[in-house]
Amino acid sequence: MVPPGSRQALSTGSPVPPSAHGEGTLGEVAASDPIRLPDLAGLFARRATRLRALAEGHELAAYLRLMAALAAAQEAALGDLPPGTLPGRHAVAKARRGGRAPIDPATWQRDPSWRAALAGILRSIDVPLLPEPAQRARTALLEASDETLEALADRFLGGAPAAHEAGASVFVAAALQVAWTRMAALLEPEDLASDEPETGDCPICGSPAVAGVVAPGGTRFGHRHLHCSLCATSWRYVRSRCVHCGATDKVSYRQLAGTSYLRAECCETCRGYSKVFFVEKARPVEPFADDLASLTLDLLVGEEGFSRIANPFMLAPDTEEGWDGG
Ligand SMILES: [Zn+2]
Ligand SMILES: [Zn+2]
Repeated sequence: MVPPGSRQALSTGSPVPPSAHGEGTLGEVAASDPIRLPDLAGLFARRATRLRALAEGHELAAYLRLMAALAAAQEAALGDLPPGTLPGRHAVAKARRGGRAPIDPATWQRDPSWRAALAGILRSIDVPLLPEPAQRARTALLEASDETLEALADRFLGGAPAAHEAGASVFVAAALQVAWTRMAALLEPEDLASDEPETGDCPICGSPAVAGVVAPGGTRFGHRHLHCSLCATSWRYVRSRCVHCGATDKVSYRQLAGTSYLRAECCETCRGYSKVFFVEKARPVEPFADDLASLTLDLLVGEEGFSRIANPFMLAPDTEEGWDGG
């Protein structure tokens, strides 16, 4: 989905934002665990609530309300999910010691529970809210064979959904998120290595981060945690370091005029970028939702030639035909 072009001024910010992360807040947020597994209780409901709040007065209001409906359907589907399989504790610890992500979709054989999640999402989503082509994509998925659905999931996870199946891929991505988030939540934290992950990809499933969040605590300027686009795990990652190539020099920041809580961290070395949200007490941030609501920043840094792996829900087509694949 490419947002309509609101050409706000892009400014280059200083590396340290003027947020309220002084020494006074030190220790207030004690938990700065290297890896935080997702908390299943209400995760998708919170995302839906945040998306609805962000939609108020937003130029992409209809799109954000649609994504909120999708997140609400994910919450319902999660509650009805049949039992699934998980790697054993020994396998998890071994993978982590070897620096591998234990539930990487490229190596971990997914079970059929994600298809139950998909059925639950398609059943519980607020259908009248869907644009006509999204309704057709939904109907096509309801009628699709297991083999077709597995092939769609393979293409999405492999990073290569066909352009004509973008609409179906949004529903598939939502279902895979439900299954992967539950798996991640059920892992035993003590099986995970306690050292700080050195990777910009999720240490649990290997997927790209959707955004980073800097919260008070630890050091004077707070820690950054990256948030996984698939399994909702978050992990600590050095600030001012490219999440794509690990370079620390030639990292600079862009922000939209008038916003100080959101920046794009741009790397001249690999021409990649990632978003960073700066949390303050009064401002709730849900990285996945806030990422979708700040598409204007993607557009602007994109025009400067920086790129990243997009939020999976940004696959939502911006043309009528785009929803009809599957
Ligand atoms: Zn993950
Ligand atoms: Zn880089």
